[in-house]
Amino acid sequence: MEIACLDLEGVLIPEIWIAFAEETGIDELRATTRDIPDYDVLMKQRLALLDKHGLGLREIQEVIARLEPLDGAVEFTNWLRERFQVVILSDTFYEFSQPLMRQLGFPTLLCHKLEVNEAGKVVDYRLRQVNPKRQAVLALKTLYYRIIAAGDSYNDTTMLAEADAGILFSAPDNVIKEFPQFPAVHSYEDLKQAFINASVRDLSL
Ligand SMILES: [Mg+2]
Repeated sequence: MEIACLDLEGVLIPEIWIAFAEETGIDELRATTRDIPDYDVLMKQRLALLDKHGLGLREIQEVIARLEPLDGAVEFTNWLRERFQVVILSDTFYEFSQPLMRQLGFPTLLCHKLEVNEAGKVVDYRLRQVNPKRQAVLALKTLYYRIIAAGDSYNDTTMLAEADAGILFSAPDNVIKEFPQFPAVHSYEDLKQAFINASVRDLSL
């Protein structure tokens, strides 16, 4: 059997922090690992900004609930789930992704966790494990599943390399250039075809 491992942000949903910054008008929340390479420093800054603007988990989820999956993502996810067991491997947090995962019908999601106190304030975060996407693929392979993975960015490339087949979806040019071993597609129709090509089963039925 085959499992499809999908990245979440940039593949099925918008980049949550950027969309969240736009929705709230808090420009400083647009910072990413490109601006602040140390992830812990970046996350501490984000949590401090949430606190400063009085945004607890409930307020955050209300804002994120107004976001929608990318155009065509729901249809694509349904298509994929009819043909593969789908596992989403993401560097987001369960509490953030919840409103968007609801719109996708709650496929299986492995990601990180926020720590929230009794008053609803986000006080810290817990990473699931080191190199989480690659480790998840590795673990599924020990169950003798064949893995086809798709993602859009640098944090997906170890997952794509560990999978039996890796696909770049909607990736920036520099990533496509640096990882020419992975087929690169830009639409859900082409992504479906890439999964069909990568599969060892006849999916034409
Ligand atoms: Mg992504």
